[in-house]
Amino acid sequence: MYETTYHRPSSVDEAAALFAKGKEAKYLAGGHTLIPVMKQRLAAPSDLVDLGSIPELKGIKRDGNAIVIGAMTKHVEVATSDVVKGAIPALAHLAELIGDPQVRNRGTLGGSIANNDPAADYPAAVVGLNATVITNKRKIAAEEFFKGMFETALAPDEIITAVSFPIPEKAGYEKFRNPASRYAIVGAFVAKSASGVRVAVTGAGPSVFRQKDMEAALGKSFTADAVANIKQSANGLNADIHASAEYRAHLVTVMAKRAVQRATG
Ligand SMILES: Cc1cc2nc3c(=O)[nH]c(=O)nc-3n(C[C@H](O)[C@H](O)[C@H](O)COP(=O)(O)OP(=O)(O)OC[C@H]3O[C@@H](n4cnc5c(N)ncnc54)[C@H](O)[C@@H]3O)c2cc1C
Repeated sequence: MYETTYHRPSSVDEAAALFAKGKEAKYLAGGHTLIPVMKQRLAAPSDLVDLGSIPELKGIKRDGNAIVIGAMTKHVEVATSDVVKGAIPALAHLAELIGDPQVRNRGTLGGSIANNDPAADYPAAVVGLNATVITNKRKIAAEEFFKGMFETALAPDEIITAVSFPIPEKAGYEKFRNPASRYAIVGAFVAKSASGVRVAVTGAGPSVFRQKDMEAALGKSFTADAVANIKQSANGLNADIHASAEYRAHLVTVMAKRAVQRATG
């Protein structure tokens, strides 16, 4: 038997207040991870605080040289947004590659990065674009946000409200996907902006990481050839039934090369 009280607040402040009252409360976004986890009896929150009816958590807008996306924005909305496609096509492409139509119509940006699955796509864009995660308490720089496998800098009661993605000069994302779930076995997000080049890798390690050798090479020559011979060490990479650490290391180079090709093509 579940013993969970369901709440549907209409503002961020109300959501935070309901969370504080619960014994062991959890925020609910699209439920794409949380509901299966509850069904498996791996989580039994006393209170579910559904963020789905809070208008301030939704939407996509341009703010100066950045695209700001509300935490409850669904993957399909990012994939089809003219604002995103015009300013950061690589981000729309990334969202289009997530899961299947059902997943893209329920899963949210905030839920994805709060969960920080090692194989999730969005962490690569957040780190690759040097984005800022905005919460109801503070602003968190991309690299301080992702702490490790399924671990972030968020306090248990903290709500992601939006993510601000700076608009790069060029960017590309490619992934080698698990054919069943479409999660990234390895994905690489490459971005070039006035402050330099960033290469963020997801799927390969316990959490998203920057490939600094590739960044240095692309800083000198932003071409696929510049990364084609840079090898990623397999040390510390994930190994499971889907791929060995060595295979993932190999894929880092292949995906980075393809991401640069997409960015420059
Ligand atoms: C079959 C399947 C295939 C998938 N394939 C992919 C894929 O290819 N690539 C990929 O990247 N992802 C994939 N996903 C993940 C999916 O995209 C969802 O983003 C992810 O499951 C999180 O779901 P959700 O957004 O519904 O969040 P929920 O499940 O509702 O929440 C997830 C966690 O985040 C917390 N949370 C949610 N919103 C907030 C917020 N605003 N502030 C603070 N905490 C919050 C919740 O408390 C919970 O702990 C897949 C999922 C499924 C089920």
